[in-house]
Amino acid sequence: MQDIAGKTIKLAVIGSGPAGLTAAIYAARADLKPIVFEGPEPGGQLMTTTDVENYPGFPKGVMGPEMMNMFREQATRFGADCRYGMITNVDLSKRPFAITVDEEVNFFAESIIISTGASAKWLGIPSETRLRGYGVSACATCDGAFFRNQHVIIVGGGDTAMEEATFLTKFASKVSIVHRRDEFRASKAMQHKVMNHPKIKVIWDSEVDEVLGDKVVDGVRLKNLKTGEFTLLDDVTGLFLAIGHKPNTDLFKGVIDMDDVGYIKTVGATTYTNVEGVFACGDAMDSVYRQAITAAGSGCKAAIDAERWLEEQHS
Ligand code: NAP
Repeated sequence: MQDIAGKTIKLAVIGSGPAGLTAAIYAARADLKPIVFEGPEPGGQLMTTTDVENYPGFPKGVMGPEMMNMFREQATRFGADCRYGMITNVDLSKRPFAITVDEEVNFFAESIIISTGASAKWLGIPSETRLRGYGVSACATCDGAFFRNQHVIIVGGGDTAMEEATFLTKFASKVSIVHRRDEFRASKAMQHKVMNHPKIKVIWDSEVDEVLGDKVVDGVRLKNLKTGEFTLLDDVTGLFLAIGHKPNTDLFKGVIDMDDVGYIKTVGATTYTNVEGVFACGDAMDSVYRQAITAAGSGCKAAIDAERWLEEQHS
């Protein structure tokens, strides 16, 4: 990292999921010599996914980590410099922006693309962590189709849980929503859809106490939070978490405009943020679609926006 100490680069890409690496491909091809700082989860959320079957161009599907390796390989082929490294401080008050990586190396960047993504929230129990990707998932859209004619559980009581439960009924024979309270926080319209669906059952006042299974999920133990009673569901093969996401944007709080949850606000259909020269893409600014393909698309937009903006500065 010392090679960049005190120097000014044209473009720093912060984050290395589909958004950041697509931005890197476009920026490298535009000769911006981007440096991608891969962050704490190089490759992003797809690194914890198994098969990806909804990304166009892979008719037989592809493993999440393999796909991200291909993204990185493609970016480096055009000269993007992808490095392990965590951006620990950014001063956006003047240009070029002063950036610190790994708390020790300071350098400057004329422009920045924020592609720090979002992290799904997890329950945090060891059996859930162990079986992640083997029946435990935080993305029904990504993994739902693997559970044809099976009984799956979805945890949560918000709009995502309602939406994903409804989506899962396309494949699963039975969907049980496990919610910790006795009412949902989801909008009435979405609740209505769920409550009237013949394949969906709601288990109120309960939490997942343990996910069962040696190599793959083959059951869950629930705990009723009012009675303390445990129930074993031994026909469950999939556990979906829909308990919210957290955008990884703390580093920019107070400077970059965000909504209450921390999703970065961008201007219109562009990737411009409120700070000139700083662009945002992917799940860090998208609370709605949150797909690899939409993240990649917005990464492309961010690189084009950055390229045009840099050109204006130099003309
Ligand atoms: P959310 O509204 O924050 O709901 C999270 C749910 O998970 C809540 O029901 C919460 O329970 C539960 N939960 C949180 N932590 C938990 C834990 N540790 N254990 C068990 N349960 C836990 O998140 P979201 O559903 O992802 O929605 C996020 C935002 O996107 C919302 O503004 C939503 O309206 C929006 N959204 C909109 C649409 C749409 O309009 N089509 C679709 C999806 C999302 P409590 O209720 O007890 O707190």
